[in-house]
Amino acid sequence: MQPTHIEHIGIAVTSLDEAIPFFETLLGTKCYAIEEVTDQKVRTAFLRCGQTKIELLEPTCPESTIAAFIEKNNGRGGMHHIAFAVEGIENHLAEAKAAGIRLIDEKPRAGAEGLSIAFLHPKSTFGVLTELCENKNNK
Ligand code: ZN
Repeated sequence: MQPTHIEHIGIAVTSLDEAIPFFETLLGTKCYAIEEVTDQKVRTAFLRCGQTKIELLEPTCPESTIAAFIEKNNGRGGMHHIAFAVEGIENHLAEAKAAGIRLIDEKPRAGAEGLSIAFLHPKSTFGVLTELCENKNNK
């Protein structure tokens, strides 16, 4: 596997309204997109930091995995996942599987911003939930 860069870092928050102003101050840039990903029961907000983005994740219902994550973190959010940009996500998944890495997603699915995404299991990635993503829009 050879990711091209860190595409984004996902941070779970209880409220986008509260978190966005802080990250706008921290990064000196405005949030450029807010999007609901119904599939994952989250609302996401994106800010840029160079080539990398910060993805804020707010649960839209108690059944959201982000809600469960926040609950485990004493009701506060925290760093949730790291996402690597790859080219040829299917090949990367096959390679990961062949290397004995446990996959959450055997096949890529649709994520925010129209990216193809797939998660690797934190049990195989030293406790860090790891996402692979590919932007197939501009190809
Ligand atoms: Zn993500």
